[in-house]
Amino acid sequence: MVTALIVLLSFIGLIIIFIALHLLRMTAGKKIAAKELSLMSIKKLSPMGTVQTLSILPLVDFYTDDPVLKTEAGVSYLIRADNTTILMDTGLNLRREHPSPLLHNMKALNVRPEDIDMIFISHLHLDHLGGMKEQKNRKFSLSKGPVSLRNITVYSPDAVAPSEFNPGPVVEKISAPKILANGIASIGIIPRSLFFLGYTREHSIAVNVKGKGIVLIVGCGHQTVEAIIDRAQLLFDEPIYGIIGGLHFPVPTGRVMAGPLNIQNMFGNDRAPWKPINEEETMHGVEAIRKIKPKLVALSPHDSSDRALATFKEAFPGQYVDLLVGKEIKI
Ligand SMILES: [Zn+2]
Ligand SMILES: [Zn+2]
Repeated sequence: MVTALIVLLSFIGLIIIFIALHLLRMTAGKKIAAKELSLMSIKKLSPMGTVQTLSILPLVDFYTDDPVLKTEAGVSYLIRADNTTILMDTGLNLRREHPSPLLHNMKALNVRPEDIDMIFISHLHLDHLGGMKEQKNRKFSLSKGPVSLRNITVYSPDAVAPSEFNPGPVVEKISAPKILANGIASIGIIPRSLFFLGYTREHSIAVNVKGKGIVLIVGCGHQTVEAIIDRAQLLFDEPIYGIIGGLHFPVPTGRVMAGPLNIQNMFGNDRAPWKPINEEETMHGVEAIRKIKPKLVALSPHDSSDRALATFKEAFPGQYVDLLVGKEIKI
């Protein structure tokens, strides 16, 4: 009995220490993020050119309507802007398979690795790098077996290396907003100190579509949609036409649970675990998007709940498009 009590108290003590350390880290990280942001020079990225055509083909995400394709709580999108093909993020590959869900879906959708002109890593989390091990080792992989890639450039907000399975690409770390190709840019990193996941530097893609405006393509959206829109408005004179991707609204529950713990909801933001994000934040996100009067909204289900998806769908009835693996969004 006494032993059981000691074990229980030790366990509670460890949890308290864990939470206290993470809270301290998160608070310190918020100051670092504010400083890093204040040191960045954010100037207009114009003229950055325009593209005539843009399409986004989700290769990995949480939902599909095609039974041939695989789904998971990760992200990989194929972005085709005129003649430039970008692979944005490389999925989760939770079971460490070869072929990975990404590779399986690429094959099924007739996407060849050699078609890819550049890789864009939105941030260094496991669901965007191809797995837990990749995140730990600061690597990214398309699959747990050979995938032949050309010596293309990988734009990443932090130092990262290709895995031994997918050598070839050359990494260029970028922090400030940068034009990557005609009409295509990174909006630059917006750092955020997250409770569990730590200091997270994330950037998003902006594509300027002729006669329409800026289309923002977002990985996990840890930056917050408000900050992403603010940044885009500082960088571009054109209106924001659309926003596609992860905006992180796992409310009330996310896609990732560890037993009773609602991991995505509790730990993927900059709040204490007992004050997780709620419907109010979802509505703030909706209001921020409503202000830009978008023509296109497509929310990734990988880090937002069905309820959040329904809220967005209801808020933007004429503009909302379901983000499904294999369903190309053409602009
Ligand atoms: Zn994510
Ligand atoms: Zn993330």
